[in-house]
Amino acid sequence: MSPHQLLGLTIILTASLNAQANTQTILCGQLLDVEKSRMLDSQIITVTDDRIVDITAAGASSRGSVDIDLSEQTCLPGLIDMHVHLTSQSNPSAYIERFTLNTADYAFRAVDYAETTLMAGFTTVRNLGDDGTITASLRDAIARGVVDGPRIFTAGKSIATTGGHADPSNSLRADLMGDPAAIDGVINGTAEAMKAVRQRYKEGVDLIKITATGGVLSPAKNGQNPQFTQEELDALIAVANDYDLKVAAHAHGAEGMKRAIRAGVASIEHGTLMDDEVLRLMKKHGTYLVPTILAGDFVARKAKIDGYFPAVVRPKAAELGPKIKQNFARAYKAGVKIAFGTDSGVSPHGENAREFTLMTEAGMPAIEAIRSATVHAADLLGQSGDLGAISVGYKADLIAVSGNPLENIALLESVAFVMKDGMIYKQD
Ligand SMILES: [Zn+2]
Repeated sequence: MSPHQLLGLTIILTASLNAQANTQTILCGQLLDVEKSRMLDSQIITVTDDRIVDITAAGASSRGSVDIDLSEQTCLPGLIDMHVHLTSQSNPSAYIERFTLNTADYAFRAVDYAETTLMAGFTTVRNLGDDGTITASLRDAIARGVVDGPRIFTAGKSIATTGGHADPSNSLRADLMGDPAAIDGVINGTAEAMKAVRQRYKEGVDLIKITATGGVLSPAKNGQNPQFTQEELDALIAVANDYDLKVAAHAHGAEGMKRAIRAGVASIEHGTLMDDEVLRLMKKHGTYLVPTILAGDFVARKAKIDGYFPAVVRPKAAELGPKIKQNFARAYKAGVKIAFGTDSGVSPHGENAREFTLMTEAGMPAIEAIRSATVHAADLLGQSGDLGAISVGYKADLIAVSGNPLENIALLESVAFVMKDGMIYKQD
């Protein structure tokens, strides 16, 4: 190729690259700056491809000259839910469906739940447990633009111990129980704990989820006992660190939380029965609490309905459900770091924003509740600088609501505009 031809090719390539760059301007009537906890009037956001490249105060003549006019609305960063289960949604048939549905059925449901979640203004979620690899595939399909949904960080299959919360064979007939092992996310001893983490890594997870104590919805008697030894947790988290995988620990009882925090988990999910020692340890280690008040509220209400839950689950739901909100209030007052999470999939997908109302009822100011679903959630994800704020250089994930969510947090339950990666998914 001659120098002349080469130059021509360079010009063509440069031109086609420039042609692909897509720039949009968005006028926001108000813009919530979650990094500085302040509301700004009338701002123009410039987005090129999937990134925010500029934010400037709008002039009087801006209205007619922008691509997207949200001058009657308040813009916020796309919301982040740190605890969802996109492959399922609680219903009275959920336990029997384990025998009647195929993996593909759960996968198709997950596509629907993912779209519902995105349309509710949640542009990023952390999926904390599925039956294997569905949400990793869904994550990749969404990233490729094959289906619409939030950006997903997935833990794949939760890691449990035999008979523990997330042992998939709990309550089955004896001949169906089998002996699930590390490959299925069930471990006993340090070697299997390490293998289960490496197996998840091999399956392409973004983080690890463990069930440090019993749980409410698993068909087993105890909802709060510790279910890993300290040695198992230490081994598991040491290996997770080798692969740069953060560990999220489901926990209701205090002893299981203490072991998990000492071993170095990044977050405690639920945290229902934490005592003063747990609060002290969480502050010392910088461990996040992901409260999931919405799940507690939902299961407490459903426990009153005959036949909704199996007999072994019902008393746990009635006892532990209401305590999650009280505990959250205590943890927030004590100064524990909070990241927003709902456990949606227990409650219906798309109602995630109800958690904001529950958080403010428990004493958290609206701005702090929103910060827990933006800047703090991004910090726990390890995505600060990319996600969780409307800021130059960040991903163009933003939503808008009519009115001021700092005055009425419930406005976040009816989001009018959703942009993710610079693409508009909803515009009422
Ligand atoms: Zn969960």
